[in-house]
Amino acid sequence: MIIKSATFVVSNTKVSALPLPEMPEYAFIGRSNVGKSSLINMLVNVQGLAKTSQRPGKTQLINHFLINEKWYIVDLPGYGYAKVSKSSREKWEKFIRNYLTKRENLQCVFVLIDSRLDPQKIDLEFCSWLGECQIPFALVYTKADKQSAPKTDQNVAKFNKALLGWFEEVPPFFVTSAEKAQGRDKVLGFIGEVNED
Ligand code: GDP
Repeated sequence: MIIKSATFVVSNTKVSALPLPEMPEYAFIGRSNVGKSSLINMLVNVQGLAKTSQRPGKTQLINHFLINEKWYIVDLPGYGYAKVSKSSREKWEKFIRNYLTKRENLQCVFVLIDSRLDPQKIDLEFCSWLGECQIPFALVYTKADKQSAPKTDQNVAKFNKALLGWFEEVPPFFVTSAEKAQGRDKVLGFIGEVNED
């Protein structure tokens, strides 16, 4: 898929105020610092479109970007900040769960996983929850340039294997680097395929 245009539309703190669900949308989520903003900027090829890390304590926003005037990329607030209080975590969960379970034009959630790490409980539990709710998702392994390809493959295999405790099949997955634009064509190709269905 060729990206012809990518524009910021709106930031929301309330699910009830989101844009009308008239176009397909693809949401991106992951632990804070996983490389979500960098990945979105790399996919659309616009530096600075998605801002870097939303810090704890700041308002948690759902950001909509309109792509090719036809579909949305949705940047969701990150999870897993060690310093976040229980009440902010609960607020995040309610907000995000509300969005993910109710958004009728949501086609797929891309769950970002840091390719340098061993499987993290919080990521596995989040994927398992998506599965329970029957929300379609794909995995995006980030920052692959930061280590050797065999090491990335090893970590990807470990995470995928851990998921098999919950799922019969490994969901679609992509190995990416925002630095090297690795995985760009595959992720965009996947979105293009889903859009055509
Ligand atoms: P976010 O909090 O998930 O939005 O993460 P950011 O996109 O702000 O990235 C967090 C940090 O990781 C920043 O310092 C980025 O420059 C760095 N980073 C993100 N993606 C990559 C990548 O693919 N390769 C490398 N080498 N660094 C990355």
